[in-house]
This record gives sequence, C-alpha cells and structure tokens, in this order.
Amino acid sequence: MNDRIKELRDLLNCANRAYYVEAQPFMSDREYDERLRELADLEAAHPEDFDPNSPTQRIGDEPVKGFTTVRHVVPVQSIDNTYSVEELNAWHDRVLKRLEMPEQGDDDSLFAGNDAVVWICDPKIDGVAISLRYERGSLTQAITRGDGEKGDDVTAQVRTIRAIPLQLDMQHDPPDTLEVRGEIFMPNAEFERINAQREANGEPLFANARNSTAGTLKSLNTQVVAERRLNFVAHGRGEIVGWDDVTCFSEFLKRIKQLGIPVSSHTRRCEDFQEVIETIEQFREQRPELGYGVDGMVVRVDSFQQQRTLGSTSKAPRWCIAYKYPAEQGVTTLLKVDWQVGKTGALTPRATMEPVLLAGTTVQHATLHNIDEITRKDIRVGDTVIIEKAGEIIPQVISVVTDKRPRNASPITPPTTCDACGGPIEKEGPKLYCVNPECPAQFREKFKWFVGRDQMDIVGLGEKLVDQLVDVGLVKHFADVFTLNKEQLLSLDRMGEKSADNLLAGIERSESLGLHRVLAGLGIRHIGSSASKALARHFADVDALRKASLDELIALPDFGEITATGLHMFLNSPQGRETFERLASVGVDLSSPMYVQQRVESPSPVSGKTIVLTGTLEHFTRPELTERLEQLGAKVTGSVSKKTDLVISGESAGSKLEKARQLGIEVWDEAALMDAMGNEPLDSDAPA
Ligand SMILES: [Zn+2]
Repeated sequence: MNDRIKELRDLLNCANRAYYVEAQPFMSDREYDERLRELADLEAAHPEDFDPNSPTQRIGDEPVKGFTTVRHVVPVQSIDNTYSVEELNAWHDRVLKRLEMPEQGDDDSLFAGNDAVVWICDPKIDGVAISLRYERGSLTQAITRGDGEKGDDVTAQVRTIRAIPLQLDMQHDPPDTLEVRGEIFMPNAEFERINAQREANGEPLFANARNSTAGTLKSLNTQVVAERRLNFVAHGRGEIVGWDDVTCFSEFLKRIKQLGIPVSSHTRRCEDFQEVIETIEQFREQRPELGYGVDGMVVRVDSFQQQRTLGSTSKAPRWCIAYKYPAEQGVTTLLKVDWQVGKTGALTPRATMEPVLLAGTTVQHATLHNIDEITRKDIRVGDTVIIEKAGEIIPQVISVVTDKRPRNASPITPPTTCDACGGPIEKEGPKLYCVNPECPAQFREKFKWFVGRDQMDIVGLGEKLVDQLVDVGLVKHFADVFTLNKEQLLSLDRMGEKSADNLLAGIERSESLGLHRVLAGLGIRHIGSSASKALARHFADVDALRKASLDELIALPDFGEITATGLHMFLNSPQGRETFERLASVGVDLSSPMYVQQRVESPSPVSGKTIVLTGTLEHFTRPELTERLEQLGAKVTGSVSKKTDLVISGESAGSKLEKARQLGIEVWDEAALMDAMGNEPLDSDAPA
C-alpha cells in the first residue's frame, strides 16, 4: 500500500477519535478537509489501495433508493420513565427487594460488600436511537430503533457520521460480533446553522434538534447526512459474541471506548442511591451548557448478573429507569400579540413578553399556536403567563396565572385583515389565512409557483432568478413579470443576451395561456389545476367569474364550501380586483378558451365521461390529448376503476387495458378516437 495513503488514513481516523471519543481535538476542520482531499486524490491514483473503511468513504455516495426493514437480533426495549424523585426511590426499593437485598442503611446487612448494587447514571440524550453492528471490527450494519422489533437499515447514512468508527481499534481485541446501541444527535449549534440555511432557502424549519436528526437520517441523499455534523454516544448493547469477561455496564463502556466508540463523559458510577439523586440534581444545572439536548438521566444497575436476575416486564427492563427533567418554565407578563404571516399565508399569533431567562437564554417571544388555543387557555394581553421551552425553537405559553390578572387585561381577538397587506382573512378550522397571493409576506413563494411549468410555464425563470427579481424589487406583483424589458434583465447577475431573449420570449408566450392557467398560478388556497379548469369551463372570462355568487361557486363540481368561500373572498377583495386589473392591463389573457366548448349545443361524444389513457399514441402526446379531452368536457384520470367510462388505448398498452377489458369498459383505439374527435371542432378559437 502507498505509505502516504496509510499515513493519512491513520491521521484522519486519529483526528476523529480525538475529537469525538477523547474530546481532545488536535486538528482544525480546515486542516481535516485539506488532508481528506489529499487522501482522496491519492486514492484516485491508486485504486488498488481502495478500502471501504477509508475516511474518504464518509463523504456520501450515490443516493440510496429507499430503506429496507431489518429485524433486531436482540429487540430494543423501551425504558420506563418518571418525573418524580419519589418514584425513583420506589424503583430503587423494588430493585433491592427483587435482588433480595436489605435496604441501604440497614445494620443487619449481610450483603453489603461485593453483592451490593452499583448504579450507573448516564445522560439521556435527545436524539435518534440506533443499533450499530460490528463484525470482526468492521461496521457492517446500522439499524434505527423502529418499533423495537424491526427498524430501518440506515447503514449508508450512518457511515458518513464521523463520530462513528467504521473500523474498531484491533489492538484492543473487539469481540467477533459487537452490537452497540446509542444515540445519534445533533449539537445545538449545528441545528441552528441548518435552520438558518433552510430559512434562507425558504424551506420549512425543523422544530427541534431531534426532528432535525431524524430528518437527516431519513435522507436518501447520503451527502446531505455527511454535510450535517451529527454526533453519536453509545449507551447500551445488543448482541455480543465474545467478551465473556465483561460483567458489568461500566466495564462495557470502558472497553468500547478503547475500541474507539464515543461514550458520554458525564456517566457516573454511584455506590449508593443518595449519590444517584445528587448526580441527577447536579446534572440538572449543567444541562443548558452542554450544547446538545439532554432530557433526563438514565439510572441502571451496573452488574449484568443482577440485570439478568431482575429481568424485564412485558414493556421494559426492571434494572433501568429514566428520570426526566421537567421542561423549564418561566413566569412573565404578556405585553402584546401580533399575527405573523408565513410563506403559505397562515397567520400565527406571536406573543411579546417581558424578557425572562429560560434554559440559559433570554426569551421575549412565544408562540400561541392559534386562536382556538388562545380561547381555550383564556390568554389576555396584560396577563401573567407561564411559558415553557421543551427543546422547541420557540417557547410556548402554557397557562395563565388568573389570580394575577389585572383589571384592564384585554381579550385577544383574531384579526379581520392581514397585518402585512391589509388583505382579507379566511378562517379554516382553528387556522387563519391571508387570502391575498400578492401579500408581501407570501409573494416570493407564490411567485415561484406562478411561473412554474403547470401554471404560467415561463421557461427560463427558475428559483434563483425569481429570488433576484424579488430582491431587487423588479417584481412586486404577478403582473410585473410581463413588463420586464431586456435592459432590466441584463442588469441581473449572470444574465446574458441570449438568456434574456429566451426569457422574454417565454414571458410573451405565457401571456396567452388563458384563464385556467392564471387561476392555477395565483396559488389561491384550494384552487389548483383541476379546480381552475372547472372554473374555466364554467366562466367565459375573469369578469364573469368575479360576478359569480358564493352559491354558484359552491355548486361547481368538486367545490365545497371551504374552497368556494376562500375563492369568493379573494375575488371580491380590493386586493383580488387589483391583481386581475394589473394582469389585464399588461396584456395577460384572462378569457377562457375552455368555456367555448361547454356551450356546444350537442354535447361531444366524450363530454361528461371519465377517461383513462394508456399505451403510446401516434398523433398526440398525453398532456396534449388530456387538454383536448378536457376542453371537450371529459375528465381524464390515471387509473382504471369501475368509475371509468372509456379507455383510449394506443400501441403496447399494458395492464390498464387488461383491467378495462375485465371490467367491461368501452375501449377505443386511436382511429376510433380520431373519428370521434373529427366531428368536433377541435379549434378552440371559436367566437364567443
Ligand atoms: Zn397578507
């Protein structure tokens, strides 16, 4: 083997171990990355030295296709937990009784000494439980806890986590089979970094570090896992073949640490139970400074022999219990409530409070979730409130101290218009939404949707360009995109002559797509592509649509009261009127080519039919034919069922055709279709 390759592999493995196991890092991230690159280059030049356990193999590979479910050789049990010291003491008494030991402090104790119980306290890290399997020192499998019996195989993801050794230290004689259980978790700083990045990208935020860890491990793209710095700490064992001399948990931890597996530096061995209680109390104060989430302390009996004697109930082992720290609470005064509009238009009530120290940080804002929660808890402005932070990003208001309610405390009423744009508000269940798609708080995301392929289909206008147009203020309303000129486009980053011309052509083309595309593009709640088509079939143009009564909208096929109400509200709001007026003034076609077909005196042969397309057609692409059939009043669906009226079958049709025949559904070939459509005016430009 190339000497430098070996040297670099050893060095990088050593650096990982120093960082994650010994907590004594000697190499900066930057230096690590440089050495890793050097190693990758050398390995590329020496393919004969390939090693699946090389540090270079941790950078993630081809996306994996999915997860297979694997049965745990030794099931993963859950742990009983308690929030009360009293219950913890009761558990201690039960353990001693089962082991037939006298209570501590009993002078008659014959058993004190070798047979006394030793307890191990271990922080309960708030992450995702994992079972790692090493065969002859190599990591062969990583399975999530799952339901305890079976979990998901996440080996590809776990191999990218630098805290987890791919190869154990063979100098310390690992057993032939070693299954280590532990917790994969995300440090708070990393969680904040990822959420900040997601916010910048307009992606939904993770609620807490645990969700973020779980989401990361479920990523099929292992490079994503590699980029997020997950950490790992071992806290248990599964199947082990060998190591008969390891007779207690503390010895087990010591031995796996020698092999290079991270264990918690906060684990305490306690010789009497008072020490256990003290350890729990001390750790309560250390918790906020750890830099990662710990929600309790696991207390277990150290001796494996005693663990076996104690055994398990149907649910959990008797030799172990988790004491959980209650979420931190604070008391403060509610000063005001404002309603923040999210990217989807949802309005969330946010409380501003007198600043208060909670779990190590100053807290001034809390979420009130929704109006129903506010009513249920009877929260009023001016109230003294109890807030809680339980690992979530934003603390929440738990309850009101009603005894302290001042006389002038004012009830919180839901807003009737949007704070950000003045647009109308729709209530759906307990949630409120601003219905104006041009609301500044929502516009960026709505505009991305507007230009998308199934909406206005503006070719060449991708997400980055949308961001730029919105950021520099060139587009504030949907209509603005249709007045962009070449000069403006050329002023944008990375915009060349040719791209600008192509984009302008794409914009011009989209102006004439018609009402259904515009409606689908606006991103009005519940009005997607099929609802838009239903509207476009029923109304000749936007003016006719805007005159429609609520009842008329409710009566449309597949429209319910919720869909119709939101739409009606938007159409009749000043914001809605302006949106359409602006679009019309810049030349966007707001008439409906679909409508004309609806008025044909004799219905077309496909009108009102539910049709499925299958096989390859000679004269049409599927989207083209779908659109034509829909113009003729048909509904095109994807799969054959009893509700299907007609199947149009092209060349090499498969199972759908088979099924249609079984169900006795009428089948047309392409010739029959051309024949039927030939009698119909296909041209939709007929005069209104
Ligand atoms: Zn708004």
